Amino acid sequence: MMNWLNLSTPSGLALAGATGCTVVARGAGLYYALGYRPRLPLAGAFTVGNVVFFRGRFPEPDEYPLLVAHEATHATQYALCLGLPFIPLYFLAAGYSWLRTGDPASRNVFERRAGLQAGGYLERPVRKPLPAAAALHGVFRGNGHTHHP
Ligand SMILES: [Zn+2]
Repeated sequence: MMNWLNLSTPSGLALAGATGCTVVARGAGLYYALGYRPRLPLAGAFTVGNVVFFRGRFPEPDEYPLLVAHEATHATQYALCLGLPFIPLYFLAAGYSWLRTGDPASRNVFERRAGLQAGGYLERPVRKPLPAAAALHGVFRGNGHTHHP
C-alpha cells in the first residue's frame, strides 16, 4: 500500500510495461514482472516498489521461495525509504560495499538485511584498510603506487 502512495509500485508497473514483461499479481500486494530482457541491471531478479522483475531463467518464481522472500524484503525497504529514494540509497550502499569488499552486495546494508545467500550472493571478506585510505596513506608517506600528474 505504501508503495502505491509513494509511486514506486506504479513506477515498477510502468517499467514492466515499457520492457514488455508479463505482469502477474502474486497477492499480498506483490507483483511479478516476468521475462525481463534489458541488459541492466545484471541481476537475475530485482525489485521496483512492490514489483519483482525476473529474467527468463525464472519462469516460475514461486519455485524459488528464498529469492522471492529476499525480493519481498526489498519491497519493504522501498516503503521504509518512502519509495524511489531507495534507488540512490541502494547505489550508495552498493558503492560502500564495493569499496570494502570489491563486491557490491557483501557489505550492502539492503542486501544483508534481505539475506545475502537468499539473493544469490556470497559473503566476501572485508579489505582493510579502505583502499581510499590506503592510497591517501601512500600519498602522505610519499611512496609509490599513487600517480602524480
Ligand atoms: Zn537483493
